[in-house]
Amino acid sequence: MGEPFPMVEAALRGVLEELGSVALVVNDPPWSGLAGSLPRPASVTQAWNMDIAHLESVAAGEPEGDFVVGLGGGTAMDTAKFLAWKSGRPLVQVPSITSVDAGFTDAVGVRVDGNVRYVGKVRPERVILDVDLVRSAPPHLNRAGIGDILSCAVGLHDWRLAAAGGIGQPWSEPLALLGARLLDDLSSMRGEIAAVSPDGVRFLAGSYRAIGAACAAAGHSRFEEGSEHFWAYAYEWLTGAHPVHGEIISFAVVVMSCIQGNDPGRWRDLVADCAVRAHPDDIGISREDFDRTFSELKSYVRRQELDHSIIDEVDLDRGAVDDAWEFVCAIPRRGEKS
Ligand SMILES: [Zn+2]
Repeated sequence: MGEPFPMVEAALRGVLEELGSVALVVNDPPWSGLAGSLPRPASVTQAWNMDIAHLESVAAGEPEGDFVVGLGGGTAMDTAKFLAWKSGRPLVQVPSITSVDAGFTDAVGVRVDGNVRYVGKVRPERVILDVDLVRSAPPHLNRAGIGDILSCAVGLHDWRLAAAGGIGQPWSEPLALLGARLLDDLSSMRGEIAAVSPDGVRFLAGSYRAIGAACAAAGHSRFEEGSEHFWAYAYEWLTGAHPVHGEIISFAVVVMSCIQGNDPGRWRDLVADCAVRAHPDDIGISREDFDRTFSELKSYVRRQELDHSIIDEVDLDRGAVDDAWEFVCAIPRRGEKS
């Protein structure tokens, strides 16, 4: 296993004071609500667009500051990574929500023609966990953080299938054990996550840190990324929609574990008990787009050269898709974004 990124619990304000000259990369929210009470950064870049051409133009503008600091969710973390990687400046990540693992991975992800590509690697000097800041975000965004942990359930199953057929990355028992342990821990933390308690937030951040280190050491992310991510990528490519990452991944874990015949009731219960918004009506997935995604899925994963998974092994026929839809529709509706 690789060395996890250094993570410290600290308040954002003190961190910015200590660093001094900062090229801050933000999402808004939370930026507008915080700016008045924080030391003024050398520059502020709004992150919103992960398209490679946009990121190159941001980097070409050479935002001022000795440190690149990412503050926000996935796009802020990823844009900060891109900027630090391009300019060789030290990176500090301050996730303001626990909805995605981007702050804890070294891969620099961008979009090329609407598809995710990894263009390089960068290791943050440290990740700051400001528990109060994180807990001030809308609770549903923090609960969504289970998505990139829950994805181990489907990812491990896909990887085992591929490795058994001698395809792709060889099986690694330590990685499999890490994934299984995180899933067990997630089960026992379900109440804390539903409540978005400080320990729930610490658990999510700590899990991402462990996953990020394991992926960096292995050089791939097979144990935590499988056909559930591929389904979500295909859906986003087809529809142009970008639901909250952890919410669509939670949805897709329930769907693909059903296709896999991989204890889907366990994962659906876990999503329900963590109070994650993953019902299709809550995240805007129509039956029509669900069906369209499945009909495109096999050709999509081949075209994108995604890893071998259940998608390559079974018939995604009418009956299987109908069953998966019916199964996923039993996730409780959460309605209001709270
Ligand atoms: Zn993910």
